[in-house]
Amino acid sequence: MEHYLDSVFDHVRTLNPGEDVFHQAVHEVLDSLGPVLERHPEYREARIVERLIEPERQVIFRVPWVDDAGEVQVNRGYRIEFNSALGPYKGGLRFHPSVNISIIKFLGFEQIFKNALTRQGIGGGKGGSNFDPRGKSDAEVMRFCQSFMTELYRHIGEYTDVPAGDIGVGGREIGYLFGQYKRLTNRYEAGVLTGKGLGWGGSLVRTEATGYGTVLFAESMMATRGEAFDGQRVAVSGAGNVAIYAIEKAQQLGATVVSFSDSSGYVVDEDGVDVDLLRQVKEIERGRVSDYVDRKPSAELVTDGSVWDVPCTVALPCATQNELDEAAAKTLIDNGVKVIAEGANMPCTPAAVELFQEAECLFGPGKAANAGGVATSALEMEQNASREQWPFERTEDKLTLIMKNIHDECAETAEEYGDPGNYVLGANIAGFRRVANAMLDQGII
Ligand code: GLU
Repeated sequence: MEHYLDSVFDHVRTLNPGEDVFHQAVHEVLDSLGPVLERHPEYREARIVERLIEPERQVIFRVPWVDDAGEVQVNRGYRIEFNSALGPYKGGLRFHPSVNISIIKFLGFEQIFKNALTRQGIGGGKGGSNFDPRGKSDAEVMRFCQSFMTELYRHIGEYTDVPAGDIGVGGREIGYLFGQYKRLTNRYEAGVLTGKGLGWGGSLVRTEATGYGTVLFAESMMATRGEAFDGQRVAVSGAGNVAIYAIEKAQQLGATVVSFSDSSGYVVDEDGVDVDLLRQVKEIERGRVSDYVDRKPSAELVTDGSVWDVPCTVALPCATQNELDEAAAKTLIDNGVKVIAEGANMPCTPAAVELFQEAECLFGPGKAANAGGVATSALEMEQNASREQWPFERTEDKLTLIMKNIHDECAETAEEYGDPGNYVLGANIAGFRRVANAMLDQGII
């Protein structure tokens, strides 16, 4: 089996040269699949793995727009429609200067398994652009979003492909994107995008969902060892949507969160993070983490080293891919970390994950631990389809149950495959099985 999976991986590398993070994401899944392919020869006969690693459709397009100075700008747009065995393609849009085909394919690939774990009937996709919203005026962001949607609209739809936010895409961008979709199609098709404003089709809890869900997943992992968040010292990286609401939920559960970060450095606040101030600085003022430090005497800005130098018992990487490497994992373990849950997509390098597992830490991989965001997007689609808006508590209860079910399914699958406590194995196999069975039923397509 190892030989077969190695040859599939070689094929991925040859066919997609230079796409390092995509290779990494594929490798991480293939690494778990040996035992499930042994048990299910029918998956191999139907070439499930070979079909899974090939996106169903990839769209790359030009996005021209005019900046406030009247200059023409050109960006590149992407939408990778990876797998629709379980439902319409679903996944966010990332606007960040680093965006390239490899990043969008890695995110789309992860999304297939993440979405399968939610059991909500959503396929996997992802998109975005190398556009950098930072420092742009609202009018520039609007013109960019309108141009982006002028191409994207022909590829998406409530039953086809449903984008949402990711890094650089929040409520403001979704609003402009939806407006242009509506104008182009002459349809108020609420379920075509998620993360909408609460006054026009959005779901309560969607804003909080990814961060809250990550903490709920970590809480379930901790419960297997009779532990809880109360009294824990938590380090968080990032200062965006996922980080802010992970901090809020961890503190609601009695933990002290002592750090967050952005590309300008990291902040240590021994008194515990003031999440309202952080939200004000990052979400309302669109400022930097240093603006928080200017207003909070107990906080200190550190511009060298790594946020993972901050001693903690629970680490929640909520920034971006490969932000926590082997050296950082070693420091965290030496400092007594017990639990790591990935709020971002693939923030820990493979070597870091291996160290955490060797040290018998509880490790929750992103495709399980951060599935709360997309799960609540699916709840938003459900509300749009029935023209309802559920109260906050009802929606949060549903999110809590979904996260618990994902945790339990990952834990049970890891046990079934002889490696209890290995949530990476559990998540990969449980997600893969659900997609593979649907693909078998639907024939060779
Ligand atoms: N971008 C988020 C993720 O990585 C959410 C996607 C969605 O809501 O569709 O899962």
